[in-house]
Amino acid sequence: MAYLLSLDQGTTSSRAIVFDGAGAILSVAQKEFEQIFPQAGWVEHSPAEIWSTQISVAVEALAAAGLAPSQISGIGITNQRETTLVWNRLTGKPVYNAIVWQDRRTAAFCDQLRAEGVEGDVQDRTGLRLDPYFSGTKLRWILENVEGARAQAERGELAFGTVDTWLIWNLTGGAIHATDPSNASRTLLYNIHSNDWDAEMLRLLGVPRSVLPSVLPSSGLFGEASHSMLAAPIPIAGVAGDQQAALFGQACFAPGLTKNTYGTGCFMLMQTGSKPVASTNRLLTTVAWKAGGVTEYALEGSVFIGGAVVQWLRDGLKLIRTAPEVEQLAATVADNGGVYLVPAFAGLGAPHWDPYARGAILGLTRGASAGHVARAALESIAYQVTDLVSAMEADSGIHLAELRVDGGAAGNNLLMQFQADLLGVPVVRPGITETTALGAAYLAGLAVGVFSGRDQIQKQWREDRRFDPSMPREKVAELRAKWSKAVARAQSWEE
Ligand code: ADP
Repeated sequence: MAYLLSLDQGTTSSRAIVFDGAGAILSVAQKEFEQIFPQAGWVEHSPAEIWSTQISVAVEALAAAGLAPSQISGIGITNQRETTLVWNRLTGKPVYNAIVWQDRRTAAFCDQLRAEGVEGDVQDRTGLRLDPYFSGTKLRWILENVEGARAQAERGELAFGTVDTWLIWNLTGGAIHATDPSNASRTLLYNIHSNDWDAEMLRLLGVPRSVLPSVLPSSGLFGEASHSMLAAPIPIAGVAGDQQAALFGQACFAPGLTKNTYGTGCFMLMQTGSKPVASTNRLLTTVAWKAGGVTEYALEGSVFIGGAVVQWLRDGLKLIRTAPEVEQLAATVADNGGVYLVPAFAGLGAPHWDPYARGAILGLTRGASAGHVARAALESIAYQVTDLVSAMEADSGIHLAELRVDGGAAGNNLLMQFQADLLGVPVVRPGITETTALGAAYLAGLAVGVFSGRDQIQKQWREDRRFDPSMPREKVAELRAKWSKAVARAQSWEE
């Protein structure tokens, strides 16, 4: 039997999972690390802690699986995306903390660029919007604000990387400075059409080319992990950003196949094939991966408050004690009783994009109960996801055939059934919901020959449960119209 080690470097914890050649999980190890908030709107991680937690969970997972490093055929890496690091090429020492994707410190600079009217051109080149979320303006911030950094960068002494690049660098003892196109396409520096760093974007953001990593295929040899803690060299053979890895782990190999992750927020990606699809509904166009010599693309949209609305029922309203209890409470009523909850706690994301929207509960009557509110909260997750699907269908011209789901709230059967009813297509939950780590293992396994091809993975990929739509379409249209009315009431609340 062949084995693969997947390193899943997330925003709050580093995880390592050992898979066997049949895609089954042998062991999991996980360590949380510190979130650093130096000022309002700033979020940082310690690069040293990202690395130390990641390498130690790797060693722990191998031990728990009872395997020696020499028995591992390949390492797959998947990571929190957009988080930005800069280090000295000679010493390997970071010049600043990692600036996390959530960090908003470059908002004013993004506004300034937008005022110059360059956003359309930026979107054409990168598939992204001018938002502090992406790496490019964070990298610029480090070069501008860390003493001596710009001069060092101009002399070729500094290396930039997203978290995958930082892990590869450390695993290979500083021998390899590389990333993959799925991560590169989140930097604002990468041209998704030419598949190379974009000279105009580098000029616009003031980034010298010398700091950039080489971009290697997501499935292929990056180098050998030769760190002494691993005791035997292992090929690093698969790399992808977390959402793209999940798309791969959900075996979304054909155009139109779509996955949604129901976590704190929701992340939806639709595979669109080998040509990038430009969005007219304010979604992102991103590289899904480069594998087997072909670059494939995806449309991406996110919902800010997904499972978090259930946390709010638990911690804010204290209607439930644990998140899964929401299903029981919602099942105490036959339907929403006309109650709609718009969880615009942090404004609304795609396709509404209204930072001034705020949360609202509408349609309350004397008959409204806690059950109705719980049901409205759960349903709000499904309505938001349905709005995203509509935007994706409009952009891609592809009609969704089914939705593959993962993440904590995908365990909620009532929510999944309602989702299927709204979409009018089946919702499919896989047997292994660790799709992010699984996707990285698949990418690595394909490169080192553990899997013969995507067909084999397709055959391995198992459904746990399928939810078929059963609600009449007129009823769905009625509910969605009411939901849209509720969203309109919640919009532009703050001035
Ligand atoms: P993240 O990776 O963003 O931390 P997870 O995938 O671990 O998220 O999912 C956790 C989220 O899912 C929480 O917001 C929680 O409220 C929600 N959640 C967990 N279980 C359920 C459930 N059975 N029903 C609805 N929501 C749930």
